Amino acid sequence: MAIREGAWDCPHCGRTGNRGSAKFCGGCGAPRGEDVRFYLPDDAREVSDAAELRKAMAGPDWICPYCQGDNGAESSFCSGCGAPRDGAAVRPLVETRLAPPVVPAPQPVVSKGRAGGLLKKGCGIGCLGLLVLFGLIWFLGRPREATLTAQGFSWERSIQIEALQAVTEEAWEDAVPAGARVLSRRREVHHTNRVQTGTVRKSSTVTEQVQVGTERVKVGTRDLGNGYFEDIYEDRPVYEDRSHEESYDEPVYREDPVFAVKVRYEIDKWLPAREEKAAGQDRSPRWPEVQQAANERAGARKESYEIRFLDDKGKACVHRTPREAEWRRFEPGGAYRATVKPDGEVARFLDPEG
Ligand SMILES: [Zn+2]
Ligand SMILES: [Zn+2]
Repeated sequence: MAIREGAWDCPHCGRTGNRGSAKFCGGCGAPRGEDVRFYLPDDAREVSDAAELRKAMAGPDWICPYCQGDNGAESSFCSGCGAPRDGAAVRPLVETRLAPPVVPAPQPVVSKGRAGGLLKKGCGIGCLGLLVLFGLIWFLGRPREATLTAQGFSWERSIQIEALQAVTEEAWEDAVPAGARVLSRRREVHHTNRVQTGTVRKSSTVTEQVQVGTERVKVGTRDLGNGYFEDIYEDRPVYEDRSHEESYDEPVYREDPVFAVKVRYEIDKWLPAREEKAAGQDRSPRWPEVQQAANERAGARKESYEIRFLDDKGKACVHRTPREAEWRRFEPGGAYRATVKPDGEVARFLDPEG
């Protein structure tokens, strides 16, 4: 329990660092006065002399109610005016707690300086280059506006012909479709069932914090009210990691196979076989004649129509549509405003002005 001598500053002449035990200023001789507060300099002297220690532990100084002089706890009369101590106020005992140690949180590493700057600059140029490139692609690829004159028409229609064909498939017995002709059956593992057959003894290491004692920690200082300070200590628990083995039972399983019958069978299915097509350059589209065998049927139908144009510069353009009504809208020699993609395909027809 260390006792150290504090210091005080004179409010009259401004002298700093007067010895804590001094009742008068070493600069101007003024008495310490009631309002002066003691403080503990970092390099404060530790008291070892027995007589001085006794004085430090005797209690706080008292303030003479008549002349405001500071007097040691051991004196019964004021050293300034001789008045008796009776009823005099004493200096307060003030405790100052140390701030708890701050553990710095790990800081994310931030790279700064030249490397980052260069990287940023590089990206800036790269992004600008990309922007210019995309701009160029957009500029070259954008549809241009033109007046188109219809030159020619064509159409194409097709019908998918499906044939009933025997296909070989496999399925679990309960999922074989109606009409299937069974070719073979065999037993196969359908799934497995998990069965617990017992347990196996295992162990793991468990680590716990255990209090193994206490340690005395300095937590602050106490102003003894007479120019001296006393360190304050506290008992803090000390912990240690203790490990021990803990055992437990882990279940052991067996996988039991469950068998079922897998069936290989043949079944008739309608499958695409060929396509019948009709095409023409006229304005009378028709469906192809379907020549179908006994095991065949007509399936999905498809149609597509095309109008060929020349633009005002004599370049060929084309418009394709799956709708006959749309195709019929155009007249041979008719003029139409449209936007045309670079590959010659019409992007969009523009409504006639007015
Ligand atoms: Zn002074
Ligand atoms: Zn006095």
